[in-house]
Amino acid sequence: MYKIVKKEELGQDTYLMEVEAPKIAQSVLPGQFVIVKANETAERIPLTVSDTFLPDGTITLVIKAIGVSTRKIVSYPVGGFFHDVVGPLGNPSAFIHRPIGMLRRSRYCFIAGGVGIAPVFPLVKWMSQHGLECDVIIGARNASLLFYIEQFRKITNNLYIATDDGSMGFKGNVNDMLDYLVHHEGRRYDEITAIGPMIMMKFVSLKAKELGIPCVVSLNSLMVDGTGMCGACRVQIGGQTKFTCVDGPEFDGSLINFDECMHRQAMYDHIDGRKLLEEEELRENHQCHIGGITHEPLPPKSRVPVREQSPEVRRTNFREVCFGYNAEEAVEEARRCLNCKNPQCVNGCPVHIRIPNFISLIKDGQFDKAASLIREDTALPSVCGRVCPQESQCEGKCVLGRKGDPVAIGKLERFIGDWSMKNNIVAQKPTVRKGQKVAVVGSGPAGLTCAKELRCMGYDVTVYEALHEFGGVLVYGIPEFRLPKKDIVKPEIETIKNLGVRFESDVVIGRTMSVDDLMNKWCYDAVFIASGAGFPNFMNIEGENLCGVVSANEFLTRNNLLFSYKDKYETPNYVGKKVTVVGGGNVAMDAARTAIRLGAEVHIVYRRSEEELPARREEVHHAKEEGIDFQLLTNPLRIIGDDKGWVKGMECIRMELSEPDESGRRRPVPIPGSEFILDTDMVIMSIGTSPNPLIYTTTQGLDVNNHGCIVADEEGATSRPGVFAGGDIVSGAATVILAMGAGKSAAKAIDEYLRNK
Ligand code: FAD
Repeated sequence: MYKIVKKEELGQDTYLMEVEAPKIAQSVLPGQFVIVKANETAERIPLTVSDTFLPDGTITLVIKAIGVSTRKIVSYPVGGFFHDVVGPLGNPSAFIHRPIGMLRRSRYCFIAGGVGIAPVFPLVKWMSQHGLECDVIIGARNASLLFYIEQFRKITNNLYIATDDGSMGFKGNVNDMLDYLVHHEGRRYDEITAIGPMIMMKFVSLKAKELGIPCVVSLNSLMVDGTGMCGACRVQIGGQTKFTCVDGPEFDGSLINFDECMHRQAMYDHIDGRKLLEEEELRENHQCHIGGITHEPLPPKSRVPVREQSPEVRRTNFREVCFGYNAEEAVEEARRCLNCKNPQCVNGCPVHIRIPNFISLIKDGQFDKAASLIREDTALPSVCGRVCPQESQCEGKCVLGRKGDPVAIGKLERFIGDWSMKNNIVAQKPTVRKGQKVAVVGSGPAGLTCAKELRCMGYDVTVYEALHEFGGVLVYGIPEFRLPKKDIVKPEIETIKNLGVRFESDVVIGRTMSVDDLMNKWCYDAVFIASGAGFPNFMNIEGENLCGVVSANEFLTRNNLLFSYKDKYETPNYVGKKVTVVGGGNVAMDAARTAIRLGAEVHIVYRRSEEELPARREEVHHAKEEGIDFQLLTNPLRIIGDDKGWVKGMECIRMELSEPDESGRRRPVPIPGSEFILDTDMVIMSIGTSPNPLIYTTTQGLDVNNHGCIVADEEGATSRPGVFAGGDIVSGAATVILAMGAGKSAAKAIDEYLRNK
C-alpha cells in the first residue's frame, strides 16, 4: 500500500499527489513512469513521475482527472493509500545517456501540452541539474489549465508559455510558439521532445519535420499494463510493431503512426472516461488533452474559432488581422464536414472547387494531397480563403448552417493554400505545348485565373498589366491587414509564373498597344480582357471637389500600392482627424479601417440598414470591433467647406426603408426634416466603381453596355471573334471569386475556340 502524503489542485481537474514509494524514488530516471491502481478493482493507470523527494522517499504524480479511473485516483485524500504503485517502468529519456559535452553543444527544446507539462518537468530538471541550457514551451487552452510555472522558472531561464485564448503568454498553441521562436527569434534546435495529447504530438512532429528538427515524443498515455504483458500499447513505429511500455515510451515522432494510436485509444471510450473528454472537447472545440478524438462524432454546432489580433492592437498596425487556423485547428474544423453525397457547397463556389474532397484530406492529415487538389482547382486559394464572401457562396449552402455554423470552408481553404505555398505544392506543369499564343490584359483575379488555366492546357500565355505590380485589386485595393502582399499575393502569382506564364508590367493596353496590335502585330491567337472596373464613382453632390474629398480607390492605392504609410516611401496620403467614409461595401470597410489605422476617428455613412450592407460580414464585424462608428440609414446631401476650400462638415439626412427596388433591396427614402451636420474634415467616397473606357474606346467592334461594361456571353466571348472578356470589366464591380470563375470559364471557351480555329 502506498500512502498519499500531499494533494494539491494545480488547475482545472489537474491534481498533484505525492506518494510514499521509496524504492521508486531512488531509482526512477527522467522519462520513466509508474502504474497506479487505486484499489483492487481499479484500472491500471500509467502516470509519469514528475519529481522525487529522496529524504522522504516520495514521488510526485500529476493527474488529469478526465475519466472514471483518474477521477477515482484524485478522489483519494491525504493519508489515504493506493493499492498499487508499480515502477519505474519504461526506458528513461535517451538524451540522459549522451555525453555531457555533446549535450552542451546541442540545443534542446522541450514542448509540453496540457497535462504533458508534468512529464516534461523532470527532463528539464535533469538538464538544469547538469548545468545545461534548454528552451521550454508549455501550453494549454487557457491559463487556468497551466501549472508548474514557478517550478519551471526555477530551473530554466527560457520558459515560453502559450495559451489558445491568449490568457497567458503567447496567443496560440505550442506549435505556433515553436514556429514563432524558429522564424521570428531565429532559434535553432538540434532536438525537440514533445509530450502531451496525442494530437498535439502528431502536429509537433509534423512541424518539426517541416523544420528539419528531430523530434521525440512520449506515448505513455497509451499504456495499460506497463510491463509488456498486455500489448495494448503496441504501436507502429516506422512500419514495425513496438510496445510502448517496453520499447518506449519515447519514440521518434516522425516514425509513429499517430492515427492508429488515436484510433486505438478510442476502443475503451465507453468505460474509461475518454468519451467524457471527447464530449468536453467537442463542446469547447479543442483537442489538447491526453486522449485525442478518435472516431466520427456528430459535428459540433459551432465552428473552431479563429485566432485574431485583438482590436486594440490591430487598429494601430497594418499586420494581418486574422491568424487563420493552424494544423490542429484545421483538422478539428475539417472533422465537422459531413462530406455530403450531393455537396451544395461546390455549387455555391463559382470556380467549383472540390470542397468536400480537400476538406476530407485535411481531416485525415493528408495536407499534401489536399494541397495538390486545391491547386488544381483554383489559382488563388490563399487569397480566396481570405477575401471571398463565403457566407453568401460555399458556406451559405453548407447544410450544417441550418442548425449551427456552416463549416469554415474559407478558413480551411486559406489554411491549405498557405500550407501548399510553404511546402511548394504547385499545380502540375503543362506537359504539352499547343503552339498558340494568348494575351491576357490585366493581372487581377480574372486574368490570373485565365492565364493559369490556359497555361496548364499548354498555351503560351502573356499577361499585360498597366501598373508596376501584378495582382489588380489584390495589390492596390485590399489592404495588407486583410491580404498580405509579400507573403500571400506575390507567392500566389509566383506559382503561376513558375508554370511558364509570362508577365509584362507597365503596359497599358489601349495606350502602349491596342487589342488590334496584340492580334495583328504581335500575332496572338486570342485575347482575354480582364481589366477590371477601377474607375471610381462620385455622388455628384455639392462640395465633392473640396480639398479633403477623395475616392476610396485613391486613398487605398496610395496606401496599399504605394505604401504611403511606410516611412521610406515617398507617396503622400492625406488623412483627416475625423474621416467620413460614404458607402457600405468592402471598399468602404477597407478605407475606414485604413483611416483608423492612420490615427483618424472614423464614421461610415450608409443609406440603407445593417442588413443590406454589401460588405463581407467579417469585415463589418472587424470594423465595429476596431471602433468605427456606423451612421446607418443616413445619406449625404452636400459637403461643406471652410473659407480655404477644405472640408469642414457634411450635411446628411436620415433615411427609412420602403418597398424593394430593382436590386431586390428595400429602397431608402429620406425622412423629411431629419437633416443634420456631421462634423468631419475628410470624406472618402466609396460608392462603387465602373470600367475604365480606355480599352473599348480603342478597340473596333467591341460592344459595351450602358454601364461601360464589355458585353460577353457566359463563356466570355465578346462581339469580336478571338476576343474574350471576364471579371469586373464584364460584370461591373463584383467579387474576386466571380472574377476567377469568369477567368476559368473563358479559358475553356478560348481553348475550344483555338482548337477549332
Ligand atoms: P481587377 O482586380 O481590377 O484587375 C484588373 C487589372 O487590370 C488591374 O491590375 C489593372 O491595373 C489592369 N488594367 C486595367 N486596365 C488595363 C489596361 N488598359 N491595360 C493593362 N492592364 C489594365 N472582392 C471580394 O471577393 N472580397 C473582398 O473582400 C473584396 N474587397 C475589395 C476591396 C477593394 C478596396 C476593392 C476595390 C475591391 C474589392 N473586392 C473584393 C472586389 C474584387 O477585388 C474585384 O471584384 C476583383 O478584383 C475583380 O477582378 P478583375 O480581375 O476583374 O479586376
